[in-house]
Amino acid sequence: MSAPTARDLRALLGDDAVASGSIRHYLGDETEGRGVLGRADAVCLPHDAEQVAAVVSWCYERGVPIVPRGGGTGYTGGAVPIEGGVVVSLERIARVRSFDPLLWRIHVEAGVRTADLRRIVRESGLYFPPDPGAAEQSEIGGNIATNAGGPHAFKYGVTGSWVTGLEAVLPPGELVRVGGAIRKDVSGYDLKSVLIGSEGTLGIVTAAWLRLIPAPEVSLPVAGFYRDTASGAGAIAAVLGNGIAAAALEYLDAGTLAAALATYPGELPDDPRFLVIAEADGSAPEAQRVHAELREALAEDAAAIHAPDSPAEVAALWRWRHGVSIAVTAQRGGKVSEDIVVPVDRLGEAIERTLEIGARYDLSTCSWGHAGDGNLHSTFMVDANDDAELARAHAASEELFALAVELGGSISGEHGIGWVKRDQLARQWPPRLLELHAAVKDAFDPKGLMNPGKKR
Ligand SMILES: Cc1cc2nc3c(=O)[nH]c(=O)nc-3n(C[C@H](O)[C@H](O)[C@H](O)COP(=O)(O)OP(=O)(O)OC[C@H]3O[C@@H](n4cnc5c(N)ncnc54)[C@H](O)[C@@H]3O)c2cc1C
Repeated sequence: MSAPTARDLRALLGDDAVASGSIRHYLGDETEGRGVLGRADAVCLPHDAEQVAAVVSWCYERGVPIVPRGGGTGYTGGAVPIEGGVVVSLERIARVRSFDPLLWRIHVEAGVRTADLRRIVRESGLYFPPDPGAAEQSEIGGNIATNAGGPHAFKYGVTGSWVTGLEAVLPPGELVRVGGAIRKDVSGYDLKSVLIGSEGTLGIVTAAWLRLIPAPEVSLPVAGFYRDTASGAGAIAAVLGNGIAAAALEYLDAGTLAAALATYPGELPDDPRFLVIAEADGSAPEAQRVHAELREALAEDAAAIHAPDSPAEVAALWRWRHGVSIAVTAQRGGKVSEDIVVPVDRLGEAIERTLEIGARYDLSTCSWGHAGDGNLHSTFMVDANDDAELARAHAASEELFALAVELGGSISGEHGIGWVKRDQLARQWPPRLLELHAAVKDAFDPKGLMNPGKKR
Protein backbone atom coordinates (compact mmCIF):
# COMPACT_ATOMS: atom_id res chain seq x y z
CA MET A 1 0.00 0.00 0.00
CA SER A 2 1.29 3.50 -0.78
CA ALA A 3 0.73 5.82 2.17
CA PRO A 4 0.60 9.06 0.10
CA THR A 5 -1.97 7.60 -2.35
CA ALA A 6 -4.20 6.33 0.45
CA ARG A 7 -3.86 9.66 2.30
CA ASP A 8 -4.82 11.73 -0.74
CA LEU A 9 -7.77 9.48 -1.54
CA ARG A 10 -8.97 9.74 2.08
CA ALA A 11 -8.88 13.51 1.75
CA LEU A 12 -10.90 13.23 -1.45
CA LEU A 13 -13.50 10.64 -0.39
CA GLY A 14 -13.50 10.59 3.41
CA ASP A 15 -11.67 8.20 5.73
CA ASP A 16 -14.14 5.33 5.55
CA ALA A 17 -14.07 5.12 1.73
CA VAL A 18 -10.45 3.96 1.66
CA ALA A 19 -9.53 0.58 3.17
CA SER A 20 -7.19 0.66 6.15
CA GLY A 21 -5.42 -2.30 7.73
CA SER A 22 -4.87 -5.44 5.68
CA ILE A 23 -5.88 -5.16 2.03
CA ARG A 24 -4.82 -8.74 1.25
CA HIS A 25 -8.40 -9.74 0.35
CA TYR A 26 -8.39 -7.26 -2.55
CA LEU A 27 -5.18 -8.46 -4.18
CA GLY A 28 -6.40 -11.77 -5.61
CA ASP A 29 -9.36 -13.60 -7.08
CA GLU A 30 -10.07 -17.24 -7.97
CA THR A 31 -6.78 -17.42 -9.88
CA GLU A 32 -4.82 -17.43 -6.65
CA GLY A 33 -4.77 -21.23 -6.93
CA ARG A 34 -2.67 -20.77 -10.07
CA GLY A 35 -0.30 -18.32 -8.45
CA VAL A 36 -1.77 -14.94 -9.51
CA LEU A 37 -1.60 -12.19 -6.87
CA GLY A 38 -1.22 -8.41 -7.21
CA ARG A 39 -0.18 -5.37 -5.19
CA ALA A 40 -2.20 -2.17 -4.76
CA ASP A 41 -1.34 1.41 -3.81
CA ALA A 42 -4.78 1.80 -2.23
CA VAL A 43 -8.21 0.15 -2.11
CA CYS A 44 -11.24 2.45 -2.44
CA LEU A 45 -14.67 1.46 -1.18
CA PRO A 46 -16.83 4.27 -2.60
CA HIS A 47 -20.38 4.81 -1.36
CA ASP A 48 -21.90 6.04 -4.59
CA ALA A 49 -21.32 6.51 -8.32
CA GLU A 50 -20.20 10.12 -7.81
CA GLN A 51 -17.37 8.90 -5.57
CA VAL A 52 -16.38 6.37 -8.26
CA ALA A 53 -16.20 9.24 -10.75
CA ALA A 54 -14.06 11.23 -8.31
CA VAL A 55 -11.57 8.33 -7.89
CA VAL A 56 -11.32 7.71 -11.63
CA SER A 57 -10.77 11.40 -12.23
CA TRP A 58 -8.08 11.58 -9.50
CA CYS A 59 -6.26 8.55 -10.91
CA TYR A 60 -6.57 9.70 -14.50
CA GLU A 61 -5.01 13.08 -13.76
CA ARG A 62 -2.04 11.40 -12.06
CA GLY A 63 -1.50 8.43 -14.38
CA VAL A 64 -2.47 5.87 -11.72
CA PRO A 65 -3.92 2.48 -12.85
CA ILE A 66 -7.53 1.77 -11.84
CA VAL A 67 -8.70 -1.80 -11.15
CA PRO A 68 -12.47 -2.29 -10.74
CA ARG A 69 -13.48 -5.10 -8.41
CA GLY A 70 -16.75 -6.94 -7.86
CA GLY A 71 -17.00 -10.08 -5.74
CA GLY A 72 -13.51 -11.31 -6.68
CA THR A 73 -14.81 -14.65 -8.00
CA GLY A 74 -13.32 -14.24 -11.47
CA TYR A 75 -11.23 -17.02 -13.01
CA THR A 76 -8.92 -14.87 -15.14
CA GLY A 77 -7.19 -12.50 -12.71
CA GLY A 78 -9.33 -9.65 -14.08
CA ALA A 79 -9.81 -7.98 -10.69
CA VAL A 80 -6.19 -8.54 -9.61
CA PRO A 81 -4.08 -5.33 -9.46
CA ILE A 82 -1.12 -6.79 -11.33
CA GLU A 83 0.50 -3.44 -12.07
CA GLY A 84 -0.43 -1.82 -8.74
CA GLY A 85 -2.64 1.26 -8.73
CA VAL A 86 -6.00 1.79 -7.05
CA VAL A 87 -8.53 -1.02 -6.61
CA VAL A 88 -12.10 0.31 -6.76
CA SER A 89 -14.40 -2.18 -5.05
CA LEU A 90 -18.11 -1.72 -5.76
CA GLU A 91 -19.29 -3.68 -2.71
CA ARG A 92 -20.91 -0.70 -0.96
CA ILE A 93 -22.72 0.57 -4.04
CA ALA A 94 -25.38 -2.07 -3.65
CA ARG A 95 -28.84 -0.51 -3.52
CA VAL A 96 -31.90 -1.53 -5.45
CA ARG A 97 -32.77 1.84 -7.00
CA SER A 98 -36.19 0.75 -8.22
CA PHE A 99 -38.08 -2.47 -8.76
CA ASP A 100 -41.22 -2.59 -10.91
CA PRO A 101 -42.50 -6.18 -10.71
CA LEU A 102 -45.56 -5.38 -12.80
CA LEU A 103 -43.30 -4.10 -15.57
CA TRP A 104 -40.76 -6.97 -15.23
CA ARG A 105 -37.76 -4.72 -14.61
CA ILE A 106 -35.32 -3.71 -11.91
CA HIS A 107 -32.70 -0.98 -11.58
CA VAL A 108 -29.83 -2.06 -9.35
CA GLU A 109 -26.41 -0.81 -8.36
CA ALA A 110 -23.33 -2.74 -9.42
CA GLY A 111 -22.47 -4.13 -5.98
CA VAL A 112 -25.71 -6.11 -5.54
CA ARG A 113 -24.79 -9.78 -5.24
CA THR A 114 -26.09 -12.05 -7.96
CA ALA A 115 -27.92 -14.42 -5.61
CA ASP A 116 -29.55 -11.52 -3.73
CA LEU A 117 -30.82 -10.09 -7.01
CA ARG A 118 -32.26 -13.47 -8.00
CA ARG A 119 -33.93 -13.83 -4.57
CA ILE A 120 -35.39 -10.31 -4.56
CA VAL A 121 -37.10 -10.73 -7.92
CA ARG A 122 -38.18 -14.33 -7.17
CA GLU A 123 -40.15 -13.08 -4.15
CA SER A 124 -42.34 -11.20 -6.64
CA GLY A 125 -42.72 -14.20 -8.95
CA LEU A 126 -40.06 -13.00 -11.38
CA TYR A 127 -36.87 -14.55 -12.70
CA PHE A 128 -33.40 -13.20 -13.50
CA PRO A 129 -32.02 -16.23 -15.35
CA PRO A 130 -28.21 -15.77 -15.33
CA ASP A 131 -26.87 -18.19 -12.71
CA PRO A 132 -23.07 -18.21 -12.62
CA GLY A 133 -21.82 -20.66 -10.01
CA ALA A 134 -20.46 -18.27 -7.37
CA ALA A 135 -23.69 -16.25 -7.20
CA GLU A 136 -23.61 -15.77 -3.41
CA GLN A 137 -20.37 -13.81 -3.78
CA SER A 138 -20.26 -12.41 -7.32
CA GLU A 139 -21.82 -9.01 -8.00
CA ILE A 140 -24.06 -7.97 -10.85
CA GLY A 141 -21.41 -5.42 -11.91
CA GLY A 142 -18.84 -8.25 -12.16
CA ASN A 143 -21.33 -10.42 -14.05
CA ILE A 144 -21.90 -7.59 -16.54
CA ALA A 145 -18.17 -6.88 -16.83
CA THR A 146 -17.52 -10.55 -17.69
CA ASN A 147 -20.85 -11.16 -19.46
CA ALA A 148 -21.19 -14.18 -17.21
CA GLY A 149 -23.03 -17.33 -18.22
CA GLY A 150 -24.02 -20.34 -16.15
CA PRO A 151 -26.06 -23.52 -16.67
CA HIS A 152 -29.29 -21.77 -17.70
CA ALA A 153 -27.58 -19.61 -20.32
CA PHE A 154 -28.35 -22.54 -22.65
CA LYS A 155 -32.03 -21.54 -22.80
CA TYR A 156 -31.97 -17.97 -21.56
CA GLY A 157 -28.68 -16.48 -22.77
CA VAL A 158 -25.82 -14.85 -20.87
CA THR A 159 -25.99 -11.81 -18.56
CA GLY A 160 -25.81 -9.28 -21.39
CA SER A 161 -29.11 -10.57 -22.79
CA TRP A 162 -30.83 -9.18 -19.68
CA VAL A 163 -29.24 -5.73 -19.51
CA THR A 164 -31.31 -2.91 -21.03
CA GLY A 165 -29.21 -0.05 -19.72
CA LEU A 166 -26.00 0.81 -17.91
CA GLU A 167 -24.70 3.63 -15.77
CA ALA A 168 -20.91 3.74 -15.87
CA VAL A 169 -17.95 5.94 -15.06
CA LEU A 170 -15.73 6.36 -18.12
CA PRO A 171 -12.27 7.91 -18.27
CA PRO A 172 -11.33 10.60 -17.50
CA GLY A 173 -13.98 10.42 -14.77
CA GLU A 174 -17.39 11.03 -16.32
CA LEU A 175 -20.62 9.41 -15.17
CA VAL A 176 -22.68 8.39 -18.23
CA ARG A 177 -25.81 6.40 -18.94
CA VAL A 178 -26.51 4.27 -22.00
CA GLY A 179 -29.93 2.66 -22.50
CA GLY A 180 -32.23 2.50 -19.47
CA ALA A 181 -35.63 1.12 -18.55
CA ILE A 182 -36.34 0.51 -22.23
CA ARG A 183 -36.60 -2.81 -24.00
CA LYS A 184 -35.31 -1.71 -27.39
CA ASP A 185 -32.65 0.76 -28.46
CA VAL A 186 -30.88 0.95 -31.80
CA SER A 187 -29.71 4.54 -31.59
CA GLY A 188 -25.98 4.86 -32.22
CA TYR A 189 -23.46 2.03 -32.11
CA ASP A 190 -24.30 -0.46 -29.38
CA LEU A 191 -21.99 1.02 -26.73
CA LYS A 192 -23.89 -0.78 -23.98
CA SER A 193 -22.82 -4.09 -25.49
CA VAL A 194 -19.25 -2.83 -25.88
CA LEU A 195 -19.16 -2.19 -22.13
CA ILE A 196 -20.73 -5.57 -21.33
CA GLY A 197 -17.91 -8.11 -21.15
CA SER A 198 -15.23 -5.40 -21.23
CA GLU A 199 -13.77 -6.67 -17.93
CA GLY A 200 -13.25 -3.24 -16.40
CA THR A 201 -10.90 -2.14 -19.18
CA LEU A 202 -13.16 0.59 -20.59
CA GLY A 203 -14.98 1.96 -17.54
CA ILE A 204 -16.63 1.09 -14.23
CA VAL A 205 -20.25 -0.06 -14.23
CA THR A 206 -22.06 1.59 -11.31
CA ALA A 207 -25.67 0.53 -12.01
CA ALA A 208 -27.76 -1.46 -14.47
CA TRP A 209 -31.32 -1.66 -15.70
CA LEU A 210 -32.28 -5.32 -16.07
CA ARG A 211 -35.24 -7.00 -17.67
CA LEU A 212 -36.94 -9.92 -15.96
CA ILE A 213 -39.44 -12.62 -16.88
CA PRO A 214 -42.14 -14.44 -14.95
CA ALA A 215 -40.48 -17.26 -13.03
CA PRO A 216 -40.93 -20.76 -14.42
CA GLU A 217 -43.56 -22.51 -12.32
CA VAL A 218 -41.58 -25.74 -12.12
CA SER A 219 -37.99 -26.89 -12.71
CA LEU A 220 -37.38 -30.60 -13.21
CA PRO A 221 -33.82 -31.83 -13.76
CA VAL A 222 -32.77 -35.26 -15.02
CA ALA A 223 -29.30 -36.62 -14.34
CA GLY A 224 -28.00 -39.42 -16.57
CA PHE A 225 -24.90 -41.42 -15.56
CA TYR A 226 -22.84 -43.11 -18.29
CA ARG A 227 -20.01 -45.61 -18.51
CA ASP A 228 -17.94 -43.48 -20.91
CA THR A 229 -17.64 -40.13 -22.63
CA ALA A 230 -18.93 -41.41 -25.97
CA SER A 231 -22.26 -42.56 -24.46
CA GLY A 232 -22.62 -39.28 -22.55
CA ALA A 233 -21.82 -37.20 -25.63
CA GLY A 234 -24.36 -39.31 -27.53
CA ALA A 235 -27.01 -38.45 -24.94
CA ILE A 236 -26.25 -34.73 -25.31
CA ALA A 237 -26.56 -35.06 -29.10
CA ALA A 238 -29.86 -36.91 -28.64
CA VAL A 239 -31.31 -34.04 -26.55
CA LEU A 240 -30.33 -31.52 -29.22
CA GLY A 241 -31.19 -33.71 -32.22
CA ASN A 242 -34.65 -34.49 -30.88
CA GLY A 243 -35.37 -30.78 -30.53
CA ILE A 244 -35.97 -30.98 -26.79
CA ALA A 245 -36.15 -27.49 -25.31
CA ALA A 246 -33.99 -28.06 -22.21
CA ALA A 247 -33.35 -25.08 -19.93
CA ALA A 248 -29.88 -26.38 -19.01
CA LEU A 249 -27.64 -29.10 -20.44
CA GLU A 250 -24.51 -29.79 -18.39
CA TYR A 251 -21.79 -32.46 -18.36
CA LEU A 252 -19.13 -33.74 -15.97
CA ASP A 253 -16.37 -36.13 -17.02
CA ALA A 254 -14.78 -38.99 -15.09
CA GLY A 255 -12.06 -36.94 -13.36
CA THR A 256 -14.61 -34.37 -12.23
CA LEU A 257 -16.90 -37.09 -10.90
CA ALA A 258 -13.98 -38.64 -9.00
CA ALA A 259 -13.46 -35.28 -7.27
CA ALA A 260 -17.09 -34.42 -6.59
CA LEU A 261 -19.29 -37.53 -6.37
CA ALA A 262 -18.74 -38.13 -2.65
CA THR A 263 -21.34 -35.46 -1.91
CA TYR A 264 -23.75 -36.22 -4.78
CA PRO A 265 -27.32 -35.83 -3.43
CA GLY A 266 -28.76 -39.07 -4.85
CA GLU A 267 -28.12 -42.73 -5.52
CA LEU A 268 -25.18 -43.65 -7.72
CA PRO A 269 -24.51 -46.55 -10.07
CA ASP A 270 -21.18 -48.43 -9.85
CA ASP A 271 -18.23 -46.58 -11.36
CA PRO A 272 -19.97 -43.81 -13.33
CA ARG A 273 -17.58 -42.18 -15.82
CA PHE A 274 -19.71 -39.37 -17.24
CA LEU A 275 -22.73 -37.39 -16.07
CA VAL A 276 -25.23 -35.32 -18.04
CA ILE A 277 -27.64 -33.02 -16.20
CA ALA A 278 -30.52 -31.61 -18.22
CA GLU A 279 -33.41 -29.57 -16.90
CA ALA A 280 -36.97 -28.94 -18.02
CA ASP A 281 -38.77 -25.81 -16.85
CA GLY A 282 -41.91 -23.77 -17.50
CA SER A 283 -45.55 -24.20 -16.51
CA ALA A 284 -46.22 -27.53 -14.79
CA PRO A 285 -47.64 -29.29 -17.91
CA GLU A 286 -44.90 -27.93 -20.16
CA ALA A 287 -42.09 -28.83 -17.74
CA GLN A 288 -43.52 -32.33 -17.30
CA ARG A 289 -43.73 -32.87 -21.06
CA VAL A 290 -40.13 -31.72 -21.65
CA HIS A 291 -39.00 -33.69 -18.59
CA ALA A 292 -40.47 -36.91 -20.04
CA GLU A 293 -38.71 -36.24 -23.35
CA LEU A 294 -35.40 -35.58 -21.59
CA ARG A 295 -35.74 -38.72 -19.53
CA GLU A 296 -36.28 -40.80 -22.63
CA ALA A 297 -33.38 -39.22 -24.54
CA LEU A 298 -30.95 -39.54 -21.62
CA ALA A 299 -32.03 -43.09 -20.67
CA GLU A 300 -31.01 -44.70 -23.98
CA ASP A 301 -27.38 -45.55 -23.04
CA ALA A 302 -27.45 -44.58 -19.36
CA ALA A 303 -26.16 -46.72 -16.50
CA ALA A 304 -28.62 -44.91 -14.22
CA ILE A 305 -31.06 -42.01 -14.22
CA HIS A 306 -31.72 -39.74 -11.25
CA ALA A 307 -34.73 -37.44 -11.54
CA PRO A 308 -35.35 -35.43 -8.36
CA ASP A 309 -38.74 -33.74 -8.27
CA SER A 310 -39.23 -32.00 -4.92
CA PRO A 311 -38.00 -28.37 -4.78
CA ALA A 312 -35.56 -29.31 -1.98
CA GLU A 313 -34.05 -32.17 -3.99
CA VAL A 314 -33.82 -30.04 -7.13
CA ALA A 315 -32.08 -27.28 -5.14
CA ALA A 316 -29.70 -29.87 -3.63
CA LEU A 317 -28.71 -31.11 -7.10
CA TRP A 318 -27.90 -27.59 -8.32
CA ARG A 319 -26.08 -26.74 -5.07
CA TRP A 320 -23.93 -29.81 -5.66
CA ARG A 321 -23.34 -28.84 -9.31
CA HIS A 322 -22.28 -25.31 -8.28
CA GLY A 323 -19.84 -26.81 -5.75
CA VAL A 324 -18.05 -28.96 -8.33
CA SER A 325 -15.40 -26.34 -9.08
CA ILE A 326 -14.47 -26.13 -5.39
CA ALA A 327 -14.37 -29.94 -5.07
CA VAL A 328 -11.96 -30.11 -8.02
CA THR A 329 -9.73 -27.41 -6.50
CA ALA A 330 -9.64 -29.37 -3.25
CA GLN A 331 -7.95 -32.33 -5.00
CA ARG A 332 -4.51 -30.70 -5.20
CA GLY A 333 -5.08 -27.30 -3.54
CA GLY A 334 -5.01 -25.43 -6.85
CA LYS A 335 -6.11 -25.63 -10.44
CA VAL A 336 -5.48 -24.08 -13.83
CA SER A 337 -8.95 -24.01 -15.32
CA GLU A 338 -9.94 -22.64 -18.71
CA ASP A 339 -13.32 -22.12 -20.32
CA ILE A 340 -12.83 -22.86 -23.99
CA VAL A 341 -15.89 -23.10 -26.20
CA VAL A 342 -16.30 -25.26 -29.31
CA PRO A 343 -19.11 -25.92 -31.78
CA VAL A 344 -21.42 -28.26 -29.90
CA ASP A 345 -20.86 -31.12 -32.38
CA ARG A 346 -17.14 -31.10 -31.45
CA LEU A 347 -17.77 -31.29 -27.68
CA GLY A 348 -16.96 -35.02 -27.27
CA GLU A 349 -13.73 -34.58 -29.22
CA ALA A 350 -12.75 -31.54 -27.13
CA ILE A 351 -13.38 -33.49 -23.89
CA GLU A 352 -11.16 -36.39 -25.05
CA ARG A 353 -8.42 -34.12 -26.37
CA THR A 354 -8.36 -32.13 -23.12
CA LEU A 355 -7.40 -35.40 -21.40
CA GLU A 356 -4.75 -36.16 -24.04
CA ILE A 357 -3.19 -32.71 -23.55
CA GLY A 358 -3.12 -33.15 -19.77
CA ALA A 359 -1.56 -36.62 -20.08
CA ARG A 360 1.19 -35.27 -22.33
CA TYR A 361 2.11 -32.73 -19.64
CA ASP A 362 1.78 -35.30 -16.84
CA LEU A 363 -1.10 -33.43 -15.18
CA SER A 364 -4.25 -34.63 -13.39
CA THR A 365 -6.91 -33.44 -15.79
CA CYS A 366 -10.67 -33.21 -15.95
CA SER A 367 -13.42 -31.14 -17.52
CA TRP A 368 -17.03 -30.26 -16.93
CA GLY A 369 -19.24 -27.50 -18.21
CA HIS A 370 -22.15 -26.21 -20.15
CA ALA A 371 -22.56 -28.96 -22.76
CA GLY A 372 -25.44 -27.33 -24.63
CA ASP A 373 -23.29 -24.25 -25.23
CA GLY A 374 -20.18 -26.30 -26.14
CA ASN A 375 -18.44 -24.66 -23.18
CA LEU A 376 -15.79 -26.75 -21.36
CA HIS A 377 -14.11 -25.97 -18.07
CA SER A 378 -10.96 -27.87 -19.01
CA THR A 379 -8.93 -28.12 -15.84
CA PHE A 380 -5.47 -29.17 -14.72
CA MET A 381 -5.33 -29.88 -11.00
CA VAL A 382 -2.11 -28.51 -9.53
CA ASP A 383 -0.21 -27.73 -6.36
CA ALA A 384 0.05 -23.93 -6.62
CA ASN A 385 3.38 -24.04 -4.76
CA ASP A 386 4.96 -26.33 -7.33
CA ASP A 387 6.41 -23.97 -9.94
CA ALA A 388 7.35 -26.73 -12.36
CA GLU A 389 3.85 -28.18 -12.30
CA LEU A 390 2.31 -24.72 -12.74
CA ALA A 391 4.56 -24.08 -15.74
CA ARG A 392 3.45 -27.39 -17.29
CA ALA A 393 -0.19 -26.50 -16.69
CA HIS A 394 0.24 -23.10 -18.33
CA ALA A 395 1.90 -24.73 -21.35
CA ALA A 396 -0.98 -27.24 -21.50
CA SER A 397 -3.45 -24.31 -21.43
CA GLU A 398 -1.80 -22.87 -24.51
CA GLU A 399 -2.51 -26.16 -26.26
CA LEU A 400 -6.12 -25.97 -25.10
CA PHE A 401 -6.47 -22.54 -26.69
CA ALA A 402 -4.98 -23.87 -29.91
CA LEU A 403 -7.43 -26.78 -29.76
CA ALA A 404 -10.40 -24.42 -29.33
CA VAL A 405 -9.35 -22.40 -32.36
CA GLU A 406 -8.62 -25.53 -34.43
CA LEU A 407 -12.14 -26.82 -33.72
CA GLY A 408 -13.70 -23.51 -34.79
CA GLY A 409 -14.29 -22.30 -31.22
CA SER A 410 -13.06 -19.59 -28.89
CA ILE A 411 -10.52 -19.33 -26.06
CA SER A 412 -13.21 -18.09 -23.66
CA GLY A 413 -16.93 -18.82 -23.46
CA GLU A 414 -17.75 -16.96 -20.25
CA HIS A 415 -14.82 -16.17 -17.92
CA GLY A 416 -13.13 -13.64 -20.20
CA ILE A 417 -9.51 -12.98 -21.06
CA GLY A 418 -8.40 -11.06 -17.97
CA TRP A 419 -4.73 -11.38 -17.13
CA VAL A 420 -4.25 -15.11 -17.50
CA LYS A 421 -5.22 -15.27 -21.18
CA ARG A 422 -3.47 -12.05 -22.20
CA ASP A 423 -2.12 -12.08 -25.77
CA GLN A 424 -4.11 -15.22 -26.65
CA LEU A 425 -6.72 -13.32 -28.69
CA ALA A 426 -4.25 -13.23 -31.57
CA ARG A 427 -4.77 -16.98 -31.95
CA GLN A 428 -8.35 -16.55 -33.08
CA TRP A 429 -8.54 -13.04 -34.54
CA PRO A 430 -6.82 -11.64 -37.65
CA PRO A 431 -4.69 -8.45 -37.37
CA ARG A 432 -7.51 -6.18 -38.55
CA LEU A 433 -9.81 -7.28 -35.72
CA LEU A 434 -6.99 -6.92 -33.17
CA GLU A 435 -6.39 -3.41 -34.49
CA LEU A 436 -10.09 -2.52 -34.05
CA HIS A 437 -10.06 -4.07 -30.56
CA ALA A 438 -7.09 -1.88 -29.59
CA ALA A 439 -8.75 1.18 -31.17
CA VAL A 440 -11.90 0.67 -29.07
CA LYS A 441 -9.75 0.49 -25.93
CA ASP A 442 -7.89 3.61 -26.97
CA ALA A 443 -11.10 5.53 -27.69
CA PHE A 444 -12.47 4.84 -24.19
CA ASP A 445 -9.21 4.92 -22.28
CA PRO A 446 -6.53 6.91 -24.14
CA LYS A 447 -4.06 6.74 -21.24
CA GLY A 448 -4.46 2.95 -20.86
CA LEU A 449 -5.14 3.22 -17.12
CA MET A 450 -8.35 1.17 -16.89
CA ASN A 451 -7.37 -2.29 -15.67
CA PRO A 452 -4.08 -2.31 -17.59
CA GLY A 453 -2.72 -5.55 -18.99
CA LYS A 454 -6.16 -7.22 -19.11
CA LYS A 455 -8.37 -8.30 -22.03
CA ARG A 456 -5.78 -7.82 -24.70
C1 LIG B 1 -17.34 -21.69 -7.93
C2 LIG B 1 -17.39 -20.76 -9.12
C3 LIG B 1 -18.28 -21.02 -10.14
C4 LIG B 1 -18.35 -20.18 -11.25
N1 LIG B 1 -19.27 -20.43 -12.23
C5 LIG B 1 -19.37 -19.58 -13.28
C6 LIG B 1 -20.33 -19.83 -14.30
O1 LIG B 1 -21.09 -20.80 -14.26
N2 LIG B 1 -20.40 -18.95 -15.32
C7 LIG B 1 -19.56 -17.85 -15.40
O2 LIG B 1 -19.67 -17.07 -16.36
N3 LIG B 1 -18.64 -17.61 -14.44
C8 LIG B 1 -18.53 -18.43 -13.39
N4 LIG B 1 -17.60 -18.18 -12.42
C9 LIG B 1 -16.68 -17.04 -12.56
C10 LIG B 1 -17.15 -15.73 -11.88
O3 LIG B 1 -18.04 -15.99 -10.83
C11 LIG B 1 -17.77 -14.80 -12.92
O4 LIG B 1 -16.78 -14.41 -13.85
C12 LIG B 1 -18.40 -13.54 -12.28
O5 LIG B 1 -19.15 -12.86 -13.28
C13 LIG B 1 -17.37 -12.58 -11.68
O6 LIG B 1 -18.07 -11.63 -10.93
P1 LIG B 1 -17.37 -10.88 -9.70
O7 LIG B 1 -18.35 -9.90 -9.16
O8 LIG B 1 -16.82 -11.84 -8.74
O9 LIG B 1 -16.21 -10.08 -10.48
P2 LIG B 1 -14.66 -9.95 -10.14
O10 LIG B 1 -13.99 -11.26 -10.11
O11 LIG B 1 -14.47 -9.04 -9.00
O12 LIG B 1 -14.18 -9.17 -11.48
C14 LIG B 1 -14.26 -9.80 -12.73
C15 LIG B 1 -13.88 -8.77 -13.81
O13 LIG B 1 -14.88 -7.78 -13.89
C16 LIG B 1 -14.34 -6.48 -13.60
N5 LIG B 1 -15.37 -5.80 -12.80
C17 LIG B 1 -15.94 -6.22 -11.66
N6 LIG B 1 -16.90 -5.35 -11.28
C18 LIG B 1 -16.93 -4.37 -12.21
C19 LIG B 1 -17.69 -3.19 -12.39
N7 LIG B 1 -18.66 -2.85 -11.52
N8 LIG B 1 -17.44 -2.42 -13.47
C20 LIG B 1 -16.47 -2.74 -14.37
N9 LIG B 1 -15.71 -3.84 -14.24
C21 LIG B 1 -15.95 -4.64 -13.17
C22 LIG B 1 -13.04 -6.73 -12.89
O14 LIG B 1 -12.12 -5.69 -13.11
C23 LIG B 1 -12.59 -8.02 -13.55
O15 LIG B 1 -11.97 -7.76 -14.78
C24 LIG B 1 -17.51 -19.03 -11.30
C25 LIG B 1 -16.61 -18.77 -10.26
C26 LIG B 1 -16.54 -19.63 -9.18
C27 LIG B 1 -15.58 -19.31 -8.07
